[in-house]
Amino acid sequence: MVEGLRHLIELQSLDDQLRTLEEEHAAVPNRRDEFERRGQACEAKCSAASDALSAARSEQRRVEGILQEQEALLQKLEGQQLQVKTNDAYTALLHEMDRARQAMSDCETRILESMDAIEAARGSEVEAQLEREAVREQIVVEAKALDERERELNDELARLRPDRDGVCALLDTELLAQYARIAKRRSPAVVRIANEMCVGCRVNIPPQSYIEILKGERIIACGNCQRILIHAERVAAGTDP
Ligand SMILES: [Zn+2]
Repeated sequence: MVEGLRHLIELQSLDDQLRTLEEEHAAVPNRRDEFERRGQACEAKCSAASDALSAARSEQRRVEGILQEQEALLQKLEGQQLQVKTNDAYTALLHEMDRARQAMSDCETRILESMDAIEAARGSEVEAQLEREAVREQIVVEAKALDERERELNDELARLRPDRDGVCALLDTELLAQYARIAKRRSPAVVRIANEMCVGCRVNIPPQSYIEILKGERIIACGNCQRILIHAERVAAGTDP
């Protein structure tokens, strides 16, 4: 029976290792998607920066267009100065010329502002492009490490799965079935006893069961959580009676 418990402990240990490795292995595609998302985020940032730069440039061109129109208008109005006949018409013309000059001055201010905006947008674009390069390089390194890790995981799993089959083959069928039943619901399925208590659920073991466990004559499950109980020292030191 002690021999059976040893195999059971071994099986539990293999299952623990396998579960950890399988979880990591299952997370690999998500990590690859994460690389993809990071790359796309940088790409989006770059194209937003380029769009902002284009918008700033076209705003500058638009205001330059307005400035040219106002300059042409002012020239036309200046040309009309000698043709006006009344004081009122002359005053009105001067007003119109002032308005055109004011509009030109506003345009010049806006052109200066848009030059600043273009400068800032160009800076942001360069920054986004540099960040994209850095992230791309980083992703290449991380993806390579992930590929390597995936190979290691596959190797480890390929090594441990036959080991597990080997241990299962050594176990009594009923005991294996009992283990499988518990393992489906609770992990670990096999637990140590400490201070006459089940380590899995922290409930005391009745004295009668404890004596039986010490004798090692049959497999005892925790009355509360159904886990298989083992007395570590007894298993380590003992031989089958
Ligand atoms: Zn328990």
